[in-house]
Amino acid sequence: MTMIKEIDKTYIASTYARKDVVFVKGKGSTLYDENGSEYIDFGSGIAVNGLGHGNEKWLEAITTQLNKIAHTSNLYYNEPSALLAKELISRTGFSKVFFCNSGAEANECAIKTARKYSSDKGYTDRNEIITLNKSFHGRTLATLAATGQESLHKYFQPYPAGFMYAEPDNFSDLEKKVSGKTCAVMLELVQGEGGVVPLDVEYVKRVEKLCREKDILLIDDEVQTGNGRTGTLYAYMQYGIMPDIMTTAKGLGNGLPIGCALFGEKTANTLGKGDHGSTFGANPVACAGALEVLKQIDAKLLEEVKEKEKIIKDALKVCRKVKKITGLGLMMGIECDNAGVLIEECLNKGLVVLAAKEKIRLLPALNISYEELNKGLKILTEVLK
Ligand SMILES: *Cc1c(COP(=O)(O)O)cnc(C)c1O
Repeated sequence: MTMIKEIDKTYIASTYARKDVVFVKGKGSTLYDENGSEYIDFGSGIAVNGLGHGNEKWLEAITTQLNKIAHTSNLYYNEPSALLAKELISRTGFSKVFFCNSGAEANECAIKTARKYSSDKGYTDRNEIITLNKSFHGRTLATLAATGQESLHKYFQPYPAGFMYAEPDNFSDLEKKVSGKTCAVMLELVQGEGGVVPLDVEYVKRVEKLCREKDILLIDDEVQTGNGRTGTLYAYMQYGIMPDIMTTAKGLGNGLPIGCALFGEKTANTLGKGDHGSTFGANPVACAGALEVLKQIDAKLLEEVKEKEKIIKDALKVCRKVKKITGLGLMMGIECDNAGVLIEECLNKGLVVLAAKEKIRLLPALNISYEELNKGLKILTEVLK
């Protein structure tokens, strides 16, 4: 496996600063490296493996579909995508779904839809989208432009025009930036990559109200916060708002690539034939898996998310190096000095945690067993004590 690392370095474009480990197997929230060493997984492949590794019912759902047919293209109907769409709609307040393969693609779809909505309504020159500083919306050119981080706007000019950035939780700043050109406001209810920072509920409600008054679309990027991560199926459900478009990906896939944009009443029919598409989108295997993911995220599991959030917070509160804990549900940021060093220390001791800006970020599986949770917390509190 040291050979694998060498081959990787030689042949794969070096866009990632990889940790020095090759994971070869996983079961539940336990990962195994090439030497058979065990790790407790508090990262879930960046909020993807929300139901852990090797989830049996999920495996059965995808392998059953794989044995029937793996791909048909969007020229034809397919059963898993229809059933998944029905499940998504029945469990949210949205009206229609577009399927794609990643978070960035879901956001691209949302951006296109917002612009077409304004154009369909006859608003001239209304194509600007306001996003928030420290947001993260993806790595394609448009979603990078949407991402409110200067450091990510360096090398790839020209970026698609039509994005403005406002200060999170500062309503008057947003109000100032809204103009006759604004067609949408796009935000993450808990900024993930930006440091696991939840937006203020009152702020978000005021933003929604402003959007309604001006027929501006509210786009809710739930690529990371979605699919049970924050303790409700989607985070908007605990903010008391109803976005016009919601995007999600990561946890919906549990390991297979899938993304989607959900459209509310206003935007349900904005995209028509030929306006958007994706060859791999609505893949039957990914959709069959996602349908099983949604089935498993029931009231009981969501209750567990809140219970585990409390257990983690209680364990961390007493650690000397912890300055502050931020986040919502099982999406948590730990403010501390030298997070990078501590993350490395955790890994060496058999615990996988992530970073978000200067913080340690925890994204354990929603169904992590209490035994695994305690094992992981033992290592984490030792490192942070
Ligand atoms: C990860 C993420 C994305 C990008 O998703 P990809 O699947 O990597 O394209 C977009 N928005 C948010 C909030 C994310 O966390």
